Amino acid sequence: MLLEVKNLSVEINEQEILHDLNLNLEAGTLHVVMGPNGAGKSTLSNVLLGHPNFQIKSGEIFFAQEKINDLSPEQRAYLGLMSLWQAPPEIEGVALEQFLFLAYKNIFAARDKAWKAPSVFEFSELLKKQASILNISPELLKRSLNVGFSGGEKKKIEILQLNLLQPKLAILDETDSGLDIDAMKILAENIKNYQQNKGTVLLITHYPEILEFLQPDFVHVMVKGEIVKSGKKDLLTTIKTSGFSQFI
Ligand code: ADP
Ligand code: MG
Repeated sequence: MLLEVKNLSVEINEQEILHDLNLNLEAGTLHVVMGPNGAGKSTLSNVLLGHPNFQIKSGEIFFAQEKINDLSPEQRAYLGLMSLWQAPPEIEGVALEQFLFLAYKNIFAARDKAWKAPSVFEFSELLKKQASILNISPELLKRSLNVGFSGGEKKKIEILQLNLLQPKLAILDETDSGLDIDAMKILAENIKNYQQNKGTVLLITHYPEILEFLQPDFVHVMVKGEIVKSGKKDLLTTIKTSGFSQFI
């Protein structure tokens, strides 16, 4: 298993959000987590990445056989975990291109001691190429991280990071929401390419639209901090026709 979540209970501000949650992801698979607002989907994504606001009360998280409960977010990133945020923060004064270069250098250097970092110029060329695949204007790369970006532009920058940093496991937290149909298709294409390069995906979504373009191996329904139902792709049809209320 690439990711094993065992009996995980998580609190924020002394309130339990996730209850005794279990989830197993085999390398190379695409798992979908769906559920109503406030179910705890983003909490799961945050706690897997080691967000300090969330306290693990009990349970264990294993990534590639290593227990990661107490690892920092950057240590988890070095191991190959990555999450694409539902609401990426805006950070004034941090130039996007420099931010990406730093992340790229640190992550690849941590994964492979023999790795040779590209020059600023080489990275800039690589970045331009990657940005053009996603229809990201080169102007955007010069600006402060996400400051004043549209919702769709922020999501594209998250996908750009996925393509650049090549994690083993990508957690996509509603990356599809707020995208127009063209951007949604671009996202689906990029997820497929990532999968073809042996990527593993945990796709958190509200709406089944994106799944018309993808082939999930497993679908999980999360309600009130618990996975109440798991199944194959046909579970999507049930959700589409009857919503989440049947699981509550
Ligand atoms: P989802 O992503 O499924 O919509 P979330 O994980 O964002 O759900 O939220 C689950 C629950 O945790 C909600 O009741 C939410 O209010 C609560 N919660 C999430 N983040 C915080 C926080 N920083 N402080 C307090 N409560 C939070
Ligand atoms: Mg959420």
